[in-house]
Amino acid sequence: MFDNLSDKLDRAFKVLKGHGSITEINVAETVKEVRKALLDADVNYKTAKAFTDTVKEKALGMNVLTSVSPGQLMVKVVNDELVELMGGNVSELDIKQNPSIILIAGLNGAGKTTFTGKLANYLKTQKGKKPFLVAADVYRPAAIDQLKVLSEQIGVPVYTDYESKDPVKIAEAGIAKAKADGNTVVIIDTAGRLAIDEQMMNEIADVKAATKPHEILFVVDSMTGQDAVNTAKAFNDRLDFTGVVLTKLDGDTRGGAALSIKSVVNKPIKFIGTGEKMDAIDVFYPDRMASRILGMGDVVSLVERAQQQFDEKQAAELQKKIRKNKFDFNDFLSQLNQIKKMGNIKDLMGMIPGVGKAIKDVDIDDDAFKHIEAIIQSMTPTERENPELINGNRRQRIANGSGTSIAEVNKLLKQFEDMRKMMKVFSDPGQAAKMMRNMP
Ligand code: GDP
Repeated sequence: MFDNLSDKLDRAFKVLKGHGSITEINVAETVKEVRKALLDADVNYKTAKAFTDTVKEKALGMNVLTSVSPGQLMVKVVNDELVELMGGNVSELDIKQNPSIILIAGLNGAGKTTFTGKLANYLKTQKGKKPFLVAADVYRPAAIDQLKVLSEQIGVPVYTDYESKDPVKIAEAGIAKAKADGNTVVIIDTAGRLAIDEQMMNEIADVKAATKPHEILFVVDSMTGQDAVNTAKAFNDRLDFTGVVLTKLDGDTRGGAALSIKSVVNKPIKFIGTGEKMDAIDVFYPDRMASRILGMGDVVSLVERAQQQFDEKQAAELQKKIRKNKFDFNDFLSQLNQIKKMGNIKDLMGMIPGVGKAIKDVDIDDDAFKHIEAIIQSMTPTERENPELINGNRRQRIANGSGTSIAEVNKLLKQFEDMRKMMKVFSDPGQAAKMMRNMP
């Protein structure tokens, strides 16, 4: 995410390297580089200029503490300003009402339908809500089908009406059904439209008037950079939406939209989309995004993702097994699956401070565990439970079955055994202490 911008900012801070203090001259030079980095990331010119003017003023106005180098000071000033630029605090979704109505709007292909599904899934799994979807795109039956598929996938009901050509009626009927069934959030997916299409804009204004939504979320493709900001402005002039959703941040986006939207439209970014799958959605935290842009990682989000996948009962059982030295390949496989559920591996690693930059050009795909999985899946149930049974013949059979080599099978078995020993030691405080004492 925003690799190019991160690199350029990093280079800008290097200007200050070796300088003992902040001066008019070295700040001017750094700020010039920061501005270039922002413009290259497709940040609106006015926004970039205002940003760097503030940074310059703040940096010069700060008393340089002897323990902080000018470079570090500049990173801090830029970080604080980036957070401000992206809206300061996190902006919560208003879902207090019963039911809360959320209207989704945007251009064709922005990711509205996908986001509608993701949001429902998020509200159901993370917020304990009972979401209900309404398919109000009367122009593309395929869009209704798409929402239906997503609704089945996430186990959330959907209201459809293939006959009606009136989105207002559909939305009203959908809300009535949602209320009757005791749902707590209604999300209305609408047709894609251009801000210059008067008739279509009137139509969504009518849906807004009829449904009185608590939230109107404008979904925009972040890959479109400044265009995203311009369409956001045009939609906001007509709809006065409550928040922005930036999709496709997993792609090769430059960052311009994320950085300029708030300052141009004065509406907060509430969510980001980071992939096509239903769990590829994140609440937008300006401070965490700033950290990531500056290559400082995002440990908080990483831990949260881990917690979302964490199952307390399962963890307790696992601990019991480890203590009895019964941790087997089935447990190993289920742990791998949990890690995979946390999201794209490269994205996860990018949240670790310092790692994002280091692995920027490394090609890590989600299939990194493929060989390990294939090997385990080629074991018989008995072998998975009793890895010590896996002798030479069995190893050859497993290698053949998994399309790997005997060396790879040996390596996994060895790693597994080492891991099991370590787990045993650390699950027994007495043994761990003994081991520590014996360390050189
Ligand atoms: P709509 O026309 O606005 O409803 O857009 P769709 O929801 O149909 O999405 C258009 C395309 O973008 C689909 O192929 C989606 O899978 C894809 N898409 C949506 N959100 C994301 C995202 O956050 N990341 C990526 N990589 N693709 C996305």
